[in-house]
Parts: sequence; structure tokens; C-alpha cells
Amino acid sequence: MAITPLPQSDAVPEQPIKILLVEDERALREALADALTGEGFVVTQADTGAAGLAAFRAAPPDLILLDLMLPEMGGIEVCRSIRSSSHVPIIMVTAKASETDRISGLDLGADDYVTKPFSSRELIARIRAVLRRADVGVSSAAVGSRLRIAEAEIDLEGQRVLRDGTVVHLKPKAFQLLAFLIENTGRVYTREQLLDKVWGYDYAGETRTVDVHMHALRQAMEAIPAEPVALQTVRGIGYVLRRPA
Ligand code: CA
Repeated sequence: MAITPLPQSDAVPEQPIKILLVEDERALREALADALTGEGFVVTQADTGAAGLAAFRAAPPDLILLDLMLPEMGGIEVCRSIRSSSHVPIIMVTAKASETDRISGLDLGADDYVTKPFSSRELIARIRAVLRRADVGVSSAAVGSRLRIAEAEIDLEGQRVLRDGTVVHLKPKAFQLLAFLIENTGRVYTREQLLDKVWGYDYAGETRTVDVHMHALRQAMEAIPAEPVALQTVRGIGYVLRRPA
């Protein structure tokens, strides 16, 4: 199958990155907004969960910074609600490391967690890392077109997998894993490398996480998930995406 080469990402005019900041503590919110604006981000502020959701729907941002403890509608509920319709990168902000452990166990689909207090430098580094990971596969692969892989159609720009014309529900990380493998078609990766590339250096997960997401992708894309033609296991090493001609 022919894929029309697309312009490299540096040929595309750079748009400012829009961040939605949902935080009820005014002093912290304003300090963060200043720091982010200083880095060239365009920041929208919301002081409650409901206001955050409304802002998200009115103008979808490129990334959401979401405080966990918000009055009335909490960060968990906001995150779930956004995830029901969007893969937008979300960084959750928590007050205690123990909360981070608890809510990351809920698998809300947040892309990262930061614990207060944090420096704006640390936060900006996290934001850039999450944006890089979210962008994986979109930069050099086929933006705006669809790829046919095994039984599925991959909409890279919309971050969706379709099977027989129907969108298959996948966790954001499963899609990011797929996008990474598409960008690196034919290259074999160990589970540890995939954790590092897709989940990030600071992800304290187990390599089994990769297997779980790979299983979901095979279910979504392969005619016979146990005998994958595209998402292949390399015995004793890890995984590779192959795209037979
Ligand atoms: Ca709060």
C-alpha cells in the first residue's frame, strides 16, 4: 500500500500550545499560569471542575493540568469525563505522593502525575515530555491519512483505531504504543524499551503493562489475535510491528 509522504513537522507553522489549567487555589493557579505563559504556552484557567469541563468543551486544549482536589466535582470525575471523549494529554496534580499512588492505580488515563510542591521548571519538563509522547507517531507518520494495518484502519490524527468502520475503544496509552510502533515499523523493542519510550522514564510500572496493552491492540486489530500478522512477538526479546506488503 502506498502512503503519500507528508511534510515534516518542521515545515508546519508552529501553533502555540494551549494548556487548560484547572486549579482552585488562586495563588498557585496564577503563579502557574504566569510560568507557563512565560514559556510560550497559551493558558486558560478554570477554578472548579465544572468550569474546567466547560472550558475543555468550548475550546479543546493541547494539554490539561488538572488538580485532584477540587470543590464539588473532583479531578477524578473531571478526568473520567474528559477521557470518555478525548485522548488529550492530562497531567494530574496531587497534594501528596500517596494520593498519586492511589489514583494512578485507578487507571484514569492520566498521562502523568505531579505532586505538590513542585517547581515550575519540573512541571514544564513534565509537560514537554507528555506532549512529546502524545505526538509520537504523528510527527513523521501520515498525518491526516489513515493507515490500514491487519484488520484495522488507524486514524493517526484523530488517535483512533477503526474496525469495520467502527471506532474501537482503546486506552490512550494503547494508542500511543501503537503510534510508536507505527513510527518504528520493523524495529524490535524489548518491553523495558517500550515502557521507557511510551510510558516515560519515570513510570514505575511493570513490563507486564506492555503485554496488557499489546493484547488489547491485537484484539482490536488482528483477525486472529493469537496469530498476529502485524503486532508480532519476537520470542525472548519483545515486540515488533510488521506491515507485510
Ligand atoms: Ca485543590
